[in-house]
Amino acid sequence: MKRKFFVAGNWKMNGSTSFNEDLINFFNQAEIRDQNVEIGVAVPSVYLSNIVNNLRKDWFVAAQNCFKNEKGAYTGEISCHMLKDIGVNWSIIGHSERRIIFNESDELVGEKCEYLLSQGMKVILCVGELRSERESGETKQVCLRQLKAATEKLKDWSNLVIAYEPVWAIGTGKVATPEEAQEVHKVIREWLRTSVSATVAESMSIVYGGSVKAENCVDLGKMEDIDGFLVGGACKYM
Ligand code: PGA
Repeated sequence: MKRKFFVAGNWKMNGSTSFNEDLINFFNQAEIRDQNVEIGVAVPSVYLSNIVNNLRKDWFVAAQNCFKNEKGAYTGEISCHMLKDIGVNWSIIGHSERRIIFNESDELVGEKCEYLLSQGMKVILCVGELRSERESGETKQVCLRQLKAATEKLKDWSNLVIAYEPVWAIGTGKVATPEEAQEVHKVIREWLRTSVSATVAESMSIVYGGSVKAENCVDLGKMEDIDGFLVGGACKYM
């Protein structure tokens, strides 16, 4: 089964009304030569409505995070029902900046992931190891632990994209080599094959994130199990 290439730009906490306008104009005029690519942007929640209304319709818009309940006393949070209400059907969940800076546990990430998928949202689930975990040979265990925790009760896998983002490569300029990334992507796909099903393993988009840029994306994208990218700094928000 040929998987569609998948590329999402994660703006993180960057942007402004005028800057976004320029960026959207640039994106709207971009010529996409390969039509077999799904492209989207994950923007700060205050700008979601505006971007949804102004970005070309062949690209998707994603939230960078979302809570696990429909509504209620959760100051500062947004729900997937609110996102759907403004036309946003995608959210990143479990980004390492959420896990590390905001102390999101595997369990919370799992609850969010399962709730959003149960509500018909599409989810980009991030997993990845710290530098110290890589150095102590724990990369596979960490990624699979995060993956299992996020998908324990999952029945329908069709709206999920998995992003392998080694924490040591995010925003550091230290990209994983194509071989290093491929090794982990393969582990994830094999786990899907043995623990879920061959169909889910074959159809799952497993994308790489961590210092992806024009100079390294071609070689990474050639690897068998790398189906696209989650791009931060190089997606031109800065
Ligand atoms: P980076 O960020 O491309 O700036 O390393 C990637 C990400 O955090 O998703």
